[in-house]
Formats: sequence, structure tokens, C-alpha cells
Amino acid sequence: MTWLEIDNEHVWHPYNSLPSKTKILPVVSTNKTSIFLQTGEELIDAMSSWWSAIHGYNHPKLNEALKKQVEIMPHIMFGGLAHEQSSLLSQKLVNLTGLHSVFLCDSGSVSVEVALKTAILYQKAKGLKKYKFFALEHAYHGDTLGAMSVCDPQNSMHSIYGSYLSENIFVKAPKLGFSSDFGEEMKALEEAFEKYHEEIAAFIVEPIVQGAGGMRIYNPEYLKKARELCTKYDVLLIADEIATGFGHTGKMFACEWAEIKPDIMTIGKGLTGGYMTMAAMVTSRSVSEIISNSEIGVLMHGPTFMANPLACSVANASIDLLLESNWQDNVKNIENIFTQELQNAKDLKFVKDVRNIGAIGIIELVDDCYAQKVQDYCVKNGVWIRPFGKLVYSIVAYTINENDLRKIVKTMIDAIKNIEENI
Ligand SMILES: *Cc1c(COP(=O)(O)O)cnc(C)c1O
Repeated sequence: MTWLEIDNEHVWHPYNSLPSKTKILPVVSTNKTSIFLQTGEELIDAMSSWWSAIHGYNHPKLNEALKKQVEIMPHIMFGGLAHEQSSLLSQKLVNLTGLHSVFLCDSGSVSVEVALKTAILYQKAKGLKKYKFFALEHAYHGDTLGAMSVCDPQNSMHSIYGSYLSENIFVKAPKLGFSSDFGEEMKALEEAFEKYHEEIAAFIVEPIVQGAGGMRIYNPEYLKKARELCTKYDVLLIADEIATGFGHTGKMFACEWAEIKPDIMTIGKGLTGGYMTMAAMVTSRSVSEIISNSEIGVLMHGPTFMANPLACSVANASIDLLLESNWQDNVKNIENIFTQELQNAKDLKFVKDVRNIGAIGIIELVDDCYAQKVQDYCVKNGVWIRPFGKLVYSIVAYTINENDLRKIVKTMIDAIKNIEENI
């Protein structure tokens, strides 16, 4: 069997059947913002590997950091041992977030699990029995069971898992639009706080942009008000910045749009510049202190590969690279190009809405039946895009050049036009 045949026979892909019912493309290498296929084709990467490859692929500085670290110490258990790279990384995360206590773990979903556990522990340490969470409709927080229990029930097919999933309280998400009115949704949130606050450990939100649950951009003022309510009712605020972090919305973290500080932040995706799996949960000092001074006294979590030195070293190099670059200008330029080019999609019959912020550009279609056709057309025309449902979107590396970015949006739009003409 060729390796592609082995893949087809034995290997699961995300959100897929085995074997896959849709075509899986064989990738042999990457460079900068290009993906090279076994067939010899080159695709411009419009996805940055699901929000992670913020500097593009094979960056010499990131490659160098990993090569250096692998010679020193590829891994060491974190139980009872410390190492330089995890301290350097934690200090950076503390400086960037304004928070205090860092838990390094394997993936975004795991960091959400740890955040939920931490919130429950914190409340317990205060003598409170708060075992539920507020989450927004259209939320996406990961695929593990705890994380799934705070994802939009319809989108993540809660019904399949029956009583195995914990029940949480979902509140109406603020309307689409960076300056839209949210009076109605805030009223619903206030009522939910009044009614349920005694059971609620934390309110978990994706700040400013709800990602995989609908690519929804909303008014930062909503978050400000949510922060006030959380403080008033002693409910922790968990900001899930796994997708939005490291500049994707034009700010280092999306919470900065609302000038708020969460009690707990989860970080992942762009953390290692798309090189290795790693995430973090960062909390305020009071959260870690209250837990540590309580009867329970410890945060009961500890993945085998916690604070993996290779992942920490490449994360350190990635953050340095970001801070040394003109990332704000680069993201602003990307935003302007998305704004311009997406205009050409607005009046198409199959397009319901276009929206964008920072390095994120979104076309929402009227129906969810076109995703595969859009993907096929784009690949044929040299662009790697992976729409889901009604959403055709792109998140690009900040290093992408202007021509490639314009080509990405133009190809997305041509794909939709092509489907309109051939239906
Ligand atoms: C991707 C994502 C997660 C899950 O991260 P994984 O690394 O895929 O486990 C959680 N929350 C948000 C907002 C995400 O975008």
C-alpha cells in the first residue's frame, strides 16, 4: 500500500468517517504560506492550519529554536521538576495577559477542561457548590466532553451523547456586528445571572469572535457588561482566546477590545506558531491563591507532556518573532484587503453576509450544501480553503503577501459564482 492508501484504510481524519467520504489531499511539504501536494501542485494556504501558523510554515527562527532545544532536552516530566523554557514562556504569558498563574498543557480542549475544573475548585474553596457554567449559543470550546458541554448544543450534536454530557446554561449570543445593539441579549444574560448565579461557577466566552460555532463577530461592549455581572455575582469569567489570541483580531488578545481582564484565560492554536501541540490556562493571582490555600489545596491535573520543552522553546521563539515584527500593521493591512475584496461577494445570490476583522475574512452562504464544491473549486485553482457548513472563511498568516491574499478572496468568490452558474 502507498501511504495515501494506508491513510484511507486505517486513519481517522477530523470530523470524518473512515474511510473518508470526501477527498483527502496528500501533502508532501510546506513553505511560508504554501502547501505542496504529492501531485506537484502548490496551494496558497488560506487557513493557516486552523488559526495556528501565524508566521507561515518553516520559519528559519522557529526551526532553529526546535533544533537547538532537541539537542539540549526534548522532554522531561514536569512533576517535581522545572526547566528554563517553561519559565521563560510563562513569564511571557503573564506579561502579555496581565494575569498571574500559568498551567501549560497539551491542547486547546485540554486547557478548557482545566479551566472548567479550576473554576469549580475555586468556588469549592470558597465554600460554594457551583457545578454549572454559562456559555453562549453558537459557542465552540473544543471537542473533549467537558469542553463539548459548553459548546452550542446543536452545532456539536449534544443529543448523540445523551445524559453523559454535563448540562450547562446557554444564553443568547449577542447579535452579529461590532457595533450592534445588544440590549435584548444583555437582558437575557442579566435574568440568567439572577436566576442561576448560585449554581454557576463561571461564564465561558470566546471574546469578540465566536469561531468554529459560526464565525460571529460581536460588540465588545457586551463583554464589558458581562464582566461586571460576573464580578457582581462572584461568577468567574473564562475568556477562551484559543482562536482569537496572538493578534488574530488586531489586538494581542481579543479581550483588549473591551478593556477587560478575565479571571481565567485559555490560550492555544497560535501559541507555538503552528509547530507543536500546546496550550495554556492562565488565571489571576487570586484564583490560584484561593485554591492553594483551601482544604483541597491542589489543582488536580497533570498531563504526561505538560510543559514539553520542545513546545515551550518554539512558543518562546514564536512570541519573540511576533513582538519583534510589525504585526499590528501587518494585521491591519490584511484587514483592509479583506474589507476591500469581500465587497465583491456582497451582492451574490448565494451569499448571505460577509464580515471580517483582523486576519479573519468570512463569507456566509445562504445554504450549507456548497462547502465541498467551494473547496474543490479553490483547490483546483491553487488555494487551500476548508469551509464548514455555510461558512467560507480564511485566516491567514501575518506574513502573507498582498497578491496571495487578494487571490485567496478572489478564488473564494469565483468558486461561489461558478456554483451559481452551474446549478
Ligand atoms: C480550536 C479551539 C478550541 C480547541 O482547541 P484544540 O487545540 O483543537 O483542542 C477551543 N476553543 C476555541 C475557541 C477554539 O477555537
